[in-house]
Amino acid sequence: MLNSPVSALKGIGAARAKLLARLGVHTAQDLLYYFPRSYEDRSHTKTIFEAIEGETVCIKGTVFSSVTERRIHKGLSIYQLIVTDDTGSLTASWFNNRFVMNRFKKGEVYIFYGKITRIGGRKMMENPVFEPMSDNRQFTGRIVPIYPLTANLTQKALQTAIQTAIPFIGELAEPIPPDIIEKYKLSEIKFAIENIHFPRDFESYALARRRLVFEELCTLQLSLLYMKAQRKAQAGQAIKDFSYRSSFEKKLPYQLTGAQIRVLDEICRDLGCATPMNRLVQGDVGSGKTVIAAGAMYITIKNGFQAALMAPTEILAAQHYKNFVKMFGSDCNICLLTGAMRASEKARAADEIKSGNVQMIIGTHAIISQNIDYHNLALVVTDEQHRFGVNQRGAIAAKGNNAHVLVMSATPIPRTLALILYGDLDISIIDELPPGRKKVETFAVGENMRRRVFNFMRKNINEGRQVYIVCPLVEESESMDLKNASDFAEKLKKTVFPEFRIALLHGKQKQKEKEETMAQFSAGQIDILVSTTVIEVGVDVANANIMVIENAERFGLGQLHQLRGRVGRGGAQSYCILFNQSDSSLAEKRMKAICSSDDGFVISQQDLELRGPGDFFGTRQHGLPNLKIANLFTDMPMLEEARQAASEVINRDPTLELREHMLLKAKIAELMEAALL
Ligand code: ADP
Ligand code: MG
Repeated sequence: MLNSPVSALKGIGAARAKLLARLGVHTAQDLLYYFPRSYEDRSHTKTIFEAIEGETVCIKGTVFSSVTERRIHKGLSIYQLIVTDDTGSLTASWFNNRFVMNRFKKGEVYIFYGKITRIGGRKMMENPVFEPMSDNRQFTGRIVPIYPLTANLTQKALQTAIQTAIPFIGELAEPIPPDIIEKYKLSEIKFAIENIHFPRDFESYALARRRLVFEELCTLQLSLLYMKAQRKAQAGQAIKDFSYRSSFEKKLPYQLTGAQIRVLDEICRDLGCATPMNRLVQGDVGSGKTVIAAGAMYITIKNGFQAALMAPTEILAAQHYKNFVKMFGSDCNICLLTGAMRASEKARAADEIKSGNVQMIIGTHAIISQNIDYHNLALVVTDEQHRFGVNQRGAIAAKGNNAHVLVMSATPIPRTLALILYGDLDISIIDELPPGRKKVETFAVGENMRRRVFNFMRKNINEGRQVYIVCPLVEESESMDLKNASDFAEKLKKTVFPEFRIALLHGKQKQKEKEETMAQFSAGQIDILVSTTVIEVGVDVANANIMVIENAERFGLGQLHQLRGRVGRGGAQSYCILFNQSDSSLAEKRMKAICSSDDGFVISQQDLELRGPGDFFGTRQHGLPNLKIANLFTDMPMLEEARQAASEVINRDPTLELREHMLLKAKIAELMEAALL
């Protein structure tokens, strides 16, 4: 009866079921899979004499008095009880908890768990957890799970609900095949579930957790490999004629770097196959990913197919469109399609896409929306992929006749992580920057440097350069003292740089306005662009050589690195100046990390370490389901093992048809469904 609704369990009524539903818990099985966020070790009991102030302990004591009620004032009552053992006495007290009144029998023994305080020489325990002394206690005398809660659901209620579901563990079937269990020394599912909730000891807990983390990572990995295998099994459209590659390279004003050539080789090899490409290109900011995309698209359209490029923002789409028209306008018809375009413009683009009159399509999400039909789409490139989800990759490929999919990511992440997060993709890495790039000099400064920074900007602008200033917010916020772009731009115009042309750019502006501003900045008609992170990804203005970031402490390291990548694109020495308004040592460490390295892979590793678990590399951000128990940071070594196990399974059974894989397959379906939410 694992699948019976929680309301069918003893002690869980409609009201509580409703609260549980808020946690995503609907069935007995869900309860079993609702894992604790931490534990309290209540397994050791001390005497009242031994328990010292400030300590959180279990006390075994006899109830000496009945509960007394003291009304302090309206709405505040204190309930107190005197407890004794052979070594002393203690006052237990509760605030506004009328229910304790009739929970005790004088003369009986109870266990109390709480923090010892002292008031006027008297030992106290405030709001202790308690239960009668017996052999099978639930809340004391053991390691007790602490669960993430929701409003109106108490810890005790949830602990009790889960306890009620524990007998159902007997029905759990083992989803991991026996050989994998044995090879990776995993505990079995029944043991793992029981001990993740109510561990016998910390050793059992570690065994239980290890197994559940393994299961989670392995299932995630397996689902990605399964998707990959499925896509590989489909018939795509092979590109035949690669002679256009050299005509493409001749169009470029520079030579491709060795890394770019290698990656383009890999892409061409994929394009030439009758199975669809699913490839990720990872490369640091400025490594020249766009040109690789352009090359692949050019070859594709010269072979008579359509090719599309999807960007994460309207600004970026517009910028790519402009560049592509410049590069390929004489070779083919190119159209722009974004959500912000007028309906009539969109309709026209849709017609031309359908008829095959345009060969290159550049835009935002709009290019994969339902009402867009392609004539013969064979390649889709998504730029800055971390903004798109896994499931969208499927939708993208489905747009064409199993189109080739190329994903460009500017968020360098450590290799192990990439293998997990992009397990459904083949990976190419551009590990070399175009020649002649000067390192962007980076400084973290405080407010006391404000004047010097302004003077420095003035000097550079007078020499014909342009400057970006990035602020964390658009508008004033009441709660925080953060620079907001609107006010800051206004202030700079009025009081600091009246002689310069200053413009404002942020996400809340109309598309047209944003485009115009970017075009003006590109054309050198704006000296200082004050913006929010809308310019974070991909924007390319070679003449800009200073990037100032306000409240830099508010940004992730990866984000700072991205922002910094907006400068240093031309020949001039470039600078990135980080105003750090925080005096925390963590902020300082993070500033140091970004100032001392210009390698995105190194920075992402440091970000991971400094931010610690769970933050930056949230799987959600990568379009994957949230992890329930695994932690991509601390569980990194297990990630390797899980990946290996998943490959073993998929290699022997690519379609997961074997009986022993039935449950795993069901789990994958569940996971994919969650990812689609
Ligand atoms: P990103 O990888 O961050 O998307 P871009 O594709 O925007 O980088 O390229 C950054 C800049 O480098 C562009 O101005 C591009 O024209 C230039 N570029 C790309 N490849 C080369 C190369 N091999 N040699 C010189 N410049 C290059
Ligand atoms: Mg780019």
